[in-house]
Amino acid sequence: MAESPVYSNYINGEWVVAKSGGTFEDWNPSNTDDLIGRFAASGADDVAAAVSAAEAAFEGWRGTSPIARANVLYKASEIIAARVNEIGADLTREEGKTLKEGIGETGRAAQILRYFAGEAQQPTGEHYPSMNSQTLLYTVREPLGVCAMITPWNFPIAIPAWKIAPALAFGNTVVLKPASLTPLCAVRLVEALHEAGIPKGVVNLVTGSASDVGDPLVRDERVVAISFTGSNAVGNELKMIATERGAKVQLEMGGKNPAIVLADADLDHAVGHLVTGAMWSTGQKCTATSRAIVDRRVAEEVTERLVNRVGALVVGDPMRPETQMGPVIDAKAAERIGSDIERGRNDGAEVLVGGGRLSEDGLGKGHFVAPTLFGGVVSDSFLGQEELFGPVLGVIAVDGYEEAIAVANQVRFGLSASIFTRDLGRAMQFAREIQAGIVHVNSETPGAEPQVPFGGYKGSSSYSREQGKAAREFFTQVKTVYIDPPPGES
Ligand code: ADP
Repeated sequence: MAESPVYSNYINGEWVVAKSGGTFEDWNPSNTDDLIGRFAASGADDVAAAVSAAEAAFEGWRGTSPIARANVLYKASEIIAARVNEIGADLTREEGKTLKEGIGETGRAAQILRYFAGEAQQPTGEHYPSMNSQTLLYTVREPLGVCAMITPWNFPIAIPAWKIAPALAFGNTVVLKPASLTPLCAVRLVEALHEAGIPKGVVNLVTGSASDVGDPLVRDERVVAISFTGSNAVGNELKMIATERGAKVQLEMGGKNPAIVLADADLDHAVGHLVTGAMWSTGQKCTATSRAIVDRRVAEEVTERLVNRVGALVVGDPMRPETQMGPVIDAKAAERIGSDIERGRNDGAEVLVGGGRLSEDGLGKGHFVAPTLFGGVVSDSFLGQEELFGPVLGVIAVDGYEEAIAVANQVRFGLSASIFTRDLGRAMQFAREIQAGIVHVNSETPGAEPQVPFGGYKGSSSYSREQGKAAREFFTQVKTVYIDPPPGES
């Protein structure tokens, strides 16, 4: 077997091994014989070096014209776009989503960089009238300083891109700590920025574990802002640590996203979106549909159609063009989802399709879980309340819109939500009443474009939003300037 490649940290414009010299392994979730590479197993010393580099680079980068900053982002976006197939294949090999999705996500990363190249060139403040007609009164938005990005494995290039791009566009410097399960995609993104000519120290990448890298990064007093996407448990812990020392924090966490199907909906259309919303990317999206809340009058028909469609999904090697669903991320996830399914069964819900691991037909070497459909889910149960983060959809039957919206809102999360109906009045009522940061009418719960804010209500976020104009709010602070002419001059 060929030697697996070894990848380094990127600190102060150079690829450097961890100070300890240690590495960790990155494995393909579809084939546990396939070692993707070894990555720097970094520690507190490496984090400190990266933060020092970012701190030293800050004055220069904030002083760089926004137009020049935009040019670097634009160049990086072109580099990624030119390599979309290659990086997309790396993504699929590392994360397990289908090749089409891997390429799609890589294209999204390029689009995000391009978008923020444009944002960098937008006005940075406002001019106001003053009580004194001679006073020039205006605001400017200025960068914060060194920002830490702590990112998950499920969108291993898009999420780092949508955090890093706005941070850089507005003049901040960055230390990225990617998930240990998907460091290669982070390397690919940083390579593109390096080749695009990002000045040394402006972006730094440190790979390694949560405790050895994430924790010292969050605690470093020089890191003034932290943008995190991941689990609620970790996000809430980071928030305590970071806010205690006065750092700015942005959190994107879990979801338990509902899709309501009313009796007047186009059922074929709705079912198609329920299936893709729940199962694409193996259900490992924070915006994935996990609850189908269906009017009892059509529940049987919707369930029957779901059984057929979910049962027909092609699960397998995500590199193959016919595959519709790949593996889950690792053995631990497969085990956890398996036991969550068991728990749902024990609570009285009925497994209609799937319901466990898949190991036949050559799937035994990967972490495959069958696309699973539950009927008879009760809202106030484990399956009705908790995020499974896997290919599992539960049907909850309800009596009409009023019960549907009550059930939809009866969870501690509020990321995204959908309704399927032909009734415009109901759709508008839903958009008003649903407690979610992202609302879809007649389309699936995932689906987020970079030019608009992304984030959730309740336990899904921390009130701040990512992407679009909202990113400017997080990655800048406001300065208000009063300029009066010197006495005697006007
Ligand atoms: P996921 O289940 O998606 O991996 P996690 O919340 O476990 O979500 O991890 C998201 C990111 O946060 C990863 O990069 C992980 O290494 C990092 N992380 C986890 N725990 C901590 C921690 N205590 N301090 C800092 N970073 C952490």
